[in-house]
Amino acid sequence: MSPMTRREFVQGAALAPLALQSLSLEGKAPPTDRFDIVVAGAGHNSLITAAYLAKAGYRCLVLEGRPRIGGCVKTAETTLRGFKHDTCSSAHNSIFDNPLMRDDELKLGDYGLEYIYPDPVIHRPFPDGSYITQWRDLDRTVAEFAKFSKKDAAAYRRMMADYENIAPVFDAVTFAPIGFGKSLNDRLAEHPKGKFWQRRLAMSAWDIIRDTFEDDHCRAFMLASPWSNQPAQFPMTGRTAYGPFQQQLHSRPLPKGGSGELTQSLARFIQAHDGVILTNKSVQRLIVENGKCVGVECEDGSAYRAEKAVLSTIHVKDLVNMAPRELWGDDFLDGVNTWQADYQAFETDYAMTEPPKYPVQGGTLSSVHTELMSTPERALRFAYDYAINAVDVDEPPLHVICCSIADPSRAPAGMHTVKVLGYQPYDLKEGPQHWDVIKDRVSDANLKYLRQFAPNLTDDKILARIVHSPLDIERQNPMNWHGSIHAGSTGPAQSGAMRPMPGWAQYRMPVPGLYQTGATTYPGGSVTGAPGRNAAVVMLKDFGTSIEEVLRKKA
Ligand SMILES: Cc1cc2nc3c(=O)[nH]c(=O)nc-3n(C[C@H](O)[C@H](O)[C@H](O)COP(=O)(O)OP(=O)(O)OC[C@H]3O[C@@H](n4cnc5c(N)ncnc54)[C@H](O)[C@@H]3O)c2cc1C
Repeated sequence: MSPMTRREFVQGAALAPLALQSLSLEGKAPPTDRFDIVVAGAGHNSLITAAYLAKAGYRCLVLEGRPRIGGCVKTAETTLRGFKHDTCSSAHNSIFDNPLMRDDELKLGDYGLEYIYPDPVIHRPFPDGSYITQWRDLDRTVAEFAKFSKKDAAAYRRMMADYENIAPVFDAVTFAPIGFGKSLNDRLAEHPKGKFWQRRLAMSAWDIIRDTFEDDHCRAFMLASPWSNQPAQFPMTGRTAYGPFQQQLHSRPLPKGGSGELTQSLARFIQAHDGVILTNKSVQRLIVENGKCVGVECEDGSAYRAEKAVLSTIHVKDLVNMAPRELWGDDFLDGVNTWQADYQAFETDYAMTEPPKYPVQGGTLSSVHTELMSTPERALRFAYDYAINAVDVDEPPLHVICCSIADPSRAPAGMHTVKVLGYQPYDLKEGPQHWDVIKDRVSDANLKYLRQFAPNLTDDKILARIVHSPLDIERQNPMNWHGSIHAGSTGPAQSGAMRPMPGWAQYRMPVPGLYQTGATTYPGGSVTGAPGRNAAVVMLKDFGTSIEEVLRKKA
């Protein structure tokens, strides 16, 4: 079957309604039901906030606009029956620094959550046939660098030690709301290596990597994550030069059964604590009485009142249209008007009969995560392509994810799910709608490039595919504004105390009674759960208790 015929066959078969996830969340909250908290949107962050509030004894109603909960932490059979694809995120490493997971605060294992820790962590093959594999074992990874340069191997080990030394400081500020506890600057001022880190954080990632490593393979390895939010040559991106060390510590953990198992376990937790979750409930309007937000109204005309507060995870671009403009204030509206998108993803999901097999010494290697970044120059060109809205399929940087290697439950016996994630701008010269015309060609070009590294992926191994352009990614979830992976740029103008807007970084919104969490809030996107837990810290304080007190309570 030719690729095109195969694709057409797939689209007919693939899009039948599928009931992968076990929870039945459809239903009506009886009109007489009373809720303390109404939550608009069911991404992992808002579910985390709701879970802590439910544990505190507040009755929560969660309203999700889509047919299924989870937002960008969702798994679905989008190609063929039995192939469970993560529709967005797969790697959950960042959430492992969150006290939610680190201290097992909600015991989500009791609600079905189980993680797998892939080893190797990441494989990075290069066009000349060489490769660097990151293994969970540090010595083994260092040996991979030593194939290219003894100096670079020593640098990798040194940077790992530097990272381990400072990680508790980064974690303390990431997993606390702004203004709760010491700021990063205050913490660095007290730290023995604080001055070293002040300089590193202000530098560009590229400056650090170029000056620390001498070999271009090692430099390309260190730069291989364009998805780390900001172009590597921009000032104040220095922390992303240390990105590989977080996953050296934690691997890139995968929930067993699919990324969506995280949000499903949170939903089970909320329901077990007297909460209600309704799907197909797109919130369209905030109900404001006497200047206070007291509930929400949905597209279908239903309305739900909250006795204590409304919590939103609606994108700020949409949220401001849901209440009279004057309630937000000029500063907040200016923050929304000037909000910028971040890197945009281009995704193809495949149902395959084999995983990618990358040639290595003595045979082939199949790794859950593989990243293709040919050279440092290619990494640096990335920002330019975005700036001029150019679709660039020349040596496209790709992230290839095959979860079924480590988790066979994701596909029928012997089969595999493969995600090929590329990065292309949403705004095209012809306008974003042009993506509907060109997306199949871009997907074909990505596959052609991938085959240079995994020649086993011939047409006969491909059972089905589904392509998501940056425009489709926005269509899937309004939080992916303009195809943004993290809801919006995490450049300095939208970071720290300026996320979402200067003056509004503490999850309390200008309309009293309304709180906001999710990727538009501090510290931003990715599966960190930080906005979710931090919002719970603020809300519980406002309600006269604390997260510590709630966690001390018996289940
Ligand atoms: C293709 C892709 C791949 C990614 N891969 C990774 C990865 O591997 N690792 C990683 O850490 N991060 C990854 N990310 C980023 C990460 O998935 C997101 O930043 C994160 O999941 C955002 O979570 P959230 O809870 O803030 O919001 P979301 O998950 O976006 O949830 C928001 C929810 O609110 C709902 N909603 C919005 N508006 C309304 C409304 N008006 N009414 C009712 N409901 C509404 C949405 O439908 C959605 O369910 C990826 C993102 C993308 C797009």
